[in-house]
Amino acid sequence: MSAIGNIPIPINEPILSYAPGSAERTVLQAAIKELGSTVTNIPVVVNGQEHHPDQTITVTSPQRHQHKLATVHQAPAALLQDAIDGATAAQQDWEQWAFADRAAVFMKAADLLCGPWRARMNAATLLGQGKTPHQAEIDAACELADFLRFNVHYAERLLHEQPISVPGVWNRLDYRPLEGFVYAITPFNFTAIGGNLPTAPAILGNVALWKPSTTAVLSNWLFYQILREAGLPPGVIQFVPGQSSTVTDVLLSDPRLAGIHFTGSTAVFHQLWTGVAQRLDQYRGYPRLVGETGGKDFILAHPSADVDALVTALLRGAFEYQGQKCSAASRCYIPRSLWPRVEEQMRAEMGRIKMGDPADFSVFVGAVIDKRAYQRLEQVLVAAKADPRVRIVAGGKCDAREGWFVEPTVLETTDPRHQIMSVEFFGPILSTYIYEDNQWDEVLTLVDSGSPYALTGAIFSQDRRAVIAADKRLRHAAGNYYVNDKCTGAVVGQQPFGGGRASGTNDKAGSILNLYRWVSARTIKETANPPKDWRYPYLG
Ligand code: NAD
Repeated sequence: MSAIGNIPIPINEPILSYAPGSAERTVLQAAIKELGSTVTNIPVVVNGQEHHPDQTITVTSPQRHQHKLATVHQAPAALLQDAIDGATAAQQDWEQWAFADRAAVFMKAADLLCGPWRARMNAATLLGQGKTPHQAEIDAACELADFLRFNVHYAERLLHEQPISVPGVWNRLDYRPLEGFVYAITPFNFTAIGGNLPTAPAILGNVALWKPSTTAVLSNWLFYQILREAGLPPGVIQFVPGQSSTVTDVLLSDPRLAGIHFTGSTAVFHQLWTGVAQRLDQYRGYPRLVGETGGKDFILAHPSADVDALVTALLRGAFEYQGQKCSAASRCYIPRSLWPRVEEQMRAEMGRIKMGDPADFSVFVGAVIDKRAYQRLEQVLVAAKADPRVRIVAGGKCDAREGWFVEPTVLETTDPRHQIMSVEFFGPILSTYIYEDNQWDEVLTLVDSGSPYALTGAIFSQDRRAVIAADKRLRHAAGNYYVNDKCTGAVVGQQPFGGGRASGTNDKAGSILNLYRWVSARTIKETANPPKDWRYPYLG
C-alpha cells in the first residue's frame, strides 16, 4: 500500500456505569459466574507455542481464599532462554513492519478489549485482583484501551519529530527500537499496567518478555489472548509467568538485555538496578531502566479547605481498591480548626462503607491481594494499637476467615515523623497528623521531607495564596500533583503518571515521554551534491 495513514486522534474510552438495570451489569454478572466456576489453566507462551512446564502455582481469589481461579505454569530457565532467542529473532521482522501495520495490531487489541472481551477482562480483574466493578472498569477496560490507543498516537507524533534540513542536505531521524529485548515486569494492582509495560515498547518495534505478577495473572493472560487475536506475531511479546528469581537471573544474565520496564515496589526495582549494574560489562549496550515504584501519597488541607470535598477525596483516595493504588492517599495533614468536622464526617461516612466480596455490587471495599499483604497490614495495626503516639480514629480490624479483609482505617499521630507518616503500607490505612493553623509554613516542610517518595499529592485550599505557596514548596514532592482533587485516578492522555525520588524514574506512563525511552535514534544525513574538492576557500 502506498499511503501515509493518519492515526485517528484517540479519545478516552467512556466508563460504563454498571448501574442497576444496565445491560453491562447483566453481562458482567454472567462473566463473573462463568469465569468464577472454572479453573483456568495458564501456560507459558514462547514463539506462539503454549508450554505447560511441570512447576505450577495455584491462583486464588483475595475475597475467597479457598476459591481456586487458575493454575499457572512457571517458566523454567531453559524455556526462558528459548524465549530470549525467539524474541530477538522475531525482532528482525517486527522492526521492519510499517508503523501503520504495527499500530493496527494495538488499535485492534483496544477495540477487542472494549468490545467482546470487556466483560471477561473486568470479571477476571474483579475475581483475581479483588476490584469492584467500577475499579475493574476504569482499569482493565478503560485505562488499558487508553494506553494502547494513546501510545499509538504518541508514537506517531514521535516519528514525525524530525531535524531541520538545509539546501542540498536532507537530515532525518530513524527511530530504531532498542537492539535486544525488553524485560517487562508488571505489578498486581493494575491490569492496565500489566498490558502497558510490554506493549508500549512493542509499538515502536521492540520485543519484550512479559513476566506478569502471579496475583494478576488471570486478567493478564486474557489480555495476552487479545493481543494474539489482534494479530501480534509470535515471539514479539513472550508470555513468561515464573518465579521472579529464576526469570530475573536468566534475563539479566543475557547480553541482549536492552531495557527493563518495571512497575512495582521500590525494593524490587533497587534489586533489579543493582543486578544490572553488577553485570554492566557483559551487555551489548546500556540497558534502559524504567521503573515506577512506591509512594506515600499525601493530602494536605489548608484551613480554607472545603471540608466536604476534602472528606470525599480522603475516602476515595485512601480506600478505593483497598488503598492498593500506588497513588492512594496514605498520609494527610489537617489543620486543627478543621479536624473536629473532618473526623466526625470521616467516621460517619466510613460507617456507611460496605466491605465484602465485590461480586456483590453494593460493596465499596474488597479484600487485600493476598496473605502476605494481609499479614503485613495486620502487623501495622497491632503495632499502632500498642503505640502511645498513635490513636485509632476509625476502623482497625482484620478478618481472614473467608478473604483477606482489612477494615478501612484512619490513624492519628502526634509525631509528624512517625513511620506511619513515611512508610508505604499499601493497604486501606490513612495516617493523619493534625497541625496548628498558624504553622502552614512548617507543615509544607513536613510534607516535602516527610517520606522518601514523591509520587502523588494533593492540596485542598480555597485561598489562592496558600495554593501558590504550596505549589512552590512542594514542586519536587509529587510527580502527580492535584489542587482540590483526590490524589488518585490519573487518566491516560490527561494526567501522565509517575513520580521522582524513591517513586521511580518518572518516565510518565501513557505519554510520549515514556516512548522516548524505547527508541534509539539513528541520524541520517544525505547530501545531494557532495563536495569534490577537499580544499576550503579560506586556504586561498
Ligand atoms: P512487587 O514489587 O512485589 O512486584 C512487582 C513485580 O515484580 C511482580 O511481577 C513481582 O512478581 C516481581 N518481582 C518481585 N520480586 C522480584 C525480583 N526479585 N526480581 C524481579 N521481579 C520481581 O509489587 P506489587 O506488590 O505487585 O505492586 C505494589 C507496588 O507497586 C507498590 O509499592 C506500589 O506503590 C507500586 N506501584 C507503583 C506504580 C507507579 O506507577 N509508581 C503503579 C502501580 C504499583
